Amino acid sequence: MSNLLETPIEYLKGVGPARGELLRKEMGIHKYADLVNLFPNRYIDRTRYYKINELRNTNAEVQIVGRVIHIKTVEQKKGKRLVATFSDETGEMELVWFQGQKWIRENLKLNTVYVIFGKCTAFNGQFNMAHPEMELLAEHQQNLRSAMQPVYPSTEKLTQRGLTNRVVNKMMQQLFVETHALFVETLPVAILDELKLIPKNVALFNIHFPKSPDLLAKAQFRLKFEELFFIQLQLITKNLIRKNKIKGHPFEKVGDYFTSFYNNHLPFDLTNAQKRVLKEIRNDMGNPAQMNRLLQGDVGSGKTIVALMSMLLALDNGFQACLMAPTEILANQHFIGLSELAKPLNINIQLLTGSTKTASRKIIHEELENGSLNIIIGTHALLEDKVKFHNLGLAIIDEQHRFGVEQRSKLWKKNEIPPHVLVMTATPIPRTLAMSLYGDLDISVIDELPPGRKPIQTVHRYDANRLKVWKFIRDEIGKGRQIYIVYPLIDVSEKMDYKDLMDGYESISRDFPLPKYSVSIVHGKMKPAEKDSEMQRFSQGKTNIMVATTVIEVGVNVPNASVMIIESAERFGLSQLHQLRGRVGRGAEQSYCILMTGHKLSNDSKIRMETMTRTNDGFEIAEVDLKLRGPGDLMGTQQSGILNLKIADIVKDKDILQLARHHAVKLLKEDPSMVKPEHLTLRNVFIQISKKQNIWNYIS
Ligand code: ADP
Ligand code: MG
Repeated sequence: MSNLLETPIEYLKGVGPARGELLRKEMGIHKYADLVNLFPNRYIDRTRYYKINELRNTNAEVQIVGRVIHIKTVEQKKGKRLVATFSDETGEMELVWFQGQKWIRENLKLNTVYVIFGKCTAFNGQFNMAHPEMELLAEHQQNLRSAMQPVYPSTEKLTQRGLTNRVVNKMMQQLFVETHALFVETLPVAILDELKLIPKNVALFNIHFPKSPDLLAKAQFRLKFEELFFIQLQLITKNLIRKNKIKGHPFEKVGDYFTSFYNNHLPFDLTNAQKRVLKEIRNDMGNPAQMNRLLQGDVGSGKTIVALMSMLLALDNGFQACLMAPTEILANQHFIGLSELAKPLNINIQLLTGSTKTASRKIIHEELENGSLNIIIGTHALLEDKVKFHNLGLAIIDEQHRFGVEQRSKLWKKNEIPPHVLVMTATPIPRTLAMSLYGDLDISVIDELPPGRKPIQTVHRYDANRLKVWKFIRDEIGKGRQIYIVYPLIDVSEKMDYKDLMDGYESISRDFPLPKYSVSIVHGKMKPAEKDSEMQRFSQGKTNIMVATTVIEVGVNVPNASVMIIESAERFGLSQLHQLRGRVGRGAEQSYCILMTGHKLSNDSKIRMETMTRTNDGFEIAEVDLKLRGPGDLMGTQQSGILNLKIADIVKDKDILQLARHHAVKLLKEDPSMVKPEHLTLRNVFIQISKKQNIWNYIS
């Protein structure tokens, strides 16, 4: 049986070499097995018949009974097309062909009743259907009609060359005839029983030829589960291999640095979430395997202190640690903040960025190499070949979405035994999704904000209400608060954006004139030193308003700033809006975020504004974002194979994903190498899939 499924697709009756070639090139269908795993995108109701006067311009697929009463060829500059007038007792419409005109002309029967099927569009007040599927009514009635007729994924070329949905459907029928629908079960009996899953062959039959809505639902569930289950098996296996293969430095002891800091110098009590996360990190680093952990925590959840204490553990065990940030501003802030916190501990902490002077840079390089420098904080400058460590034990990367996997690995290739890696991100990804996407990372989540934070109040205002917004700003400044005003600058090279920013800055400077007010500006075209000094002026309270681009998106910490105004907010993505909002709400005062937009908003923009004003919860926002954008933009998804899913949808099917994860973990706990007799088929399928997807290639 399994051999039969390996048969090249052109041997299927009705396919042949030409169609076989098309299927291979267009759809990646090489053999029987590929065709049976071509799952319908959706199902349409072919029991419903429309009248021509019921048609609406919805672009939906409809089925109509009627006759062709006239047919003609229309010559145009662009080429010929064939146009037929199709009529029923309620009206007339046009059928149009651009391809295969000769065949249609010769075979189409005038004044005979047909059932036509396809997408209707309106043009010049008349409906038309291009390349309809057509069947004589007599034939149509002989065929068994299911209320759920599958629609298969297709390409323009396939349709053009006559490989329509109906043809694919026929091929599928033929395939089931030739194979007798004997498909081998791939899941272990225990799982089938526990989850009451229908057998593989029943599932495949019903996904292509649904006998009832109920069976279709069961078939979909079973096949989605199976797909996600095998991906989870691979991700988890890969993680196990990494843990066994990649050596790391075991940090065996908790020493003076950590203990003294914890007992005497912590500026506040840790939240329970921070404690839990620290414990997870400590456990990991205590093992002789390399830690590869993602630390997720919403903006302001307190990741920095966790980073510091993790670095202290490295120091306690005689190692160096580094912290890498995506921008100079951020690296600077970390340096200032961490030096302050660690002051009583007598640690040598330094900053290394692109603007570090040659003389100091030289000293830093030396001290890193001879081991007298304990903690280095910096930007990409840390990745340069000249930077050599005496013994780097822990590398922390802040805001990882700015760094690629390659850069990460560059950092840890600097040593024979790689350092433990902790990646901190404030762009939350729904937990189940994160687990299934980054099977190679362990995940810690700080899911609790420090106590006493007042939730930020967020409102949406139209540009027309600007005067009121300005009055609000004056009031807040009057109370001693500071204000951010952020402009979109997607790309520094975009002249329009830059002009908007400068115009904005000028008009704000006019509306908030010296000497009563003072306004700072920071943007990507400024030199790092300039940027830095403007940031300093603002954070020291010397200016009231900071006009900026998304340069300030990450990490900036000015607790006295209580208002965040986002201009052209409709141009920002949800996670970016949330990040920006996180710049305020860091002090004891009530903070506000004002989203300014024009009047015309797309549906998606409306949802984004509505979501932002409704919730402050980064995870909830991430879920909405994911629904709006799909998983395409998520980091790492390109490699993980999770995007090439055939039937499941990681966003819509996240419950099934969780279930699959749970069962994969359980199975591998009992039988890590899948060698038990009852896991024999499972193992074979697993090996086949792994070979095909080359999943071993992307270990970071
Ligand atoms: P993020 O996770 O966004 O990097 P930070 O580490 O910058 O957050 O912390 C945000 C602010 O909260 C800082 O001012 C920090 O000192 C403060 N903070 C962190 N943890 C606590 C805590 N447990 N209790 C009180 N304040 C805290
Ligand atoms: Mg931070």
